Amino acid sequence: MNPATAADSVARDLISAAFAPADDVTAQGQVTCDAATRLVVALHDVEPATLRRCIEIRDWLRDFGVDRVTLLVIPAPRLHPFPARSPELAYWLLDRQDAGDAIAQHGLHHRQTRPGPLLARPVRRWQGGAAAEYAGLGAEAAAESVAAGRRVFEGTGLHVRGFVAPAYAYTGALRAVLGERFDWWATLLTLHASAATRSPALCLGTSSPLKRAVSPLVVRAGATLSPQLLRLDLHPADFDHPRHVAAVERVLERARDRVAVTYDDLC
Ligand SMILES: [Zn+2]
Repeated sequence: MNPATAADSVARDLISAAFAPADDVTAQGQVTCDAATRLVVALHDVEPATLRRCIEIRDWLRDFGVDRVTLLVIPAPRLHPFPARSPELAYWLLDRQDAGDAIAQHGLHHRQTRPGPLLARPVRRWQGGAAAEYAGLGAEAAAESVAAGRRVFEGTGLHVRGFVAPAYAYTGALRAVLGERFDWWATLLTLHASAATRSPALCLGTSSPLKRAVSPLVVRAGATLSPQLLRLDLHPADFDHPRHVAAVERVLERARDRVAVTYDDLC
């Protein structure tokens, strides 16, 4: 099988899995979020080092009519709390919050510090490798990490209601903490709030040749299969790849009649 055919095959498998019929939770009518024909864009990895790029992406999204975005902020990259390191970022986030964007917590420092369980390592590597911050943390360490991240936002004037784990790498310990401390948290396939909403996030990948080859196909196909809530994830690194930018442009053009909302709006 040549690489292009293999990429197409992997893309089809991923799309089929992600857009399989909703699970029992949703089928039983427990969904409370109003999710009709909405577009919810999450911009990942907002931190001092990516601020310039994030500002450009946010402006670019506005050109497509996306007037509400959820900004996923890393509280302490390299263990330096962002408000002290970059007051400029804190001010920009306040401006964005005033304009209608939502601010959410994206881990603590976005780096895995302990190896995860042996059997889970291949999955974690696929999800995000070194970014799988919570993969090796026990219950106490996960709770402390989440709490430390929340403390970084205290006193900034930013209202943080939600959480997304780096690389969407969740553990049982982390899940147990989040329900008590946040109004919502999101996995790759589900938005968890007062109830669960099954909706896969469309993500581009840049960390391997296979992800770079397949993910634009998955995102474009997935967008056509998202009849109600369309979750689109963007990372600053996506914009180093012309095929990725072209795929996102196509999705946003087709989503112009959707209402742009934040995750806070949905919960
Ligand atoms: Zn991230």
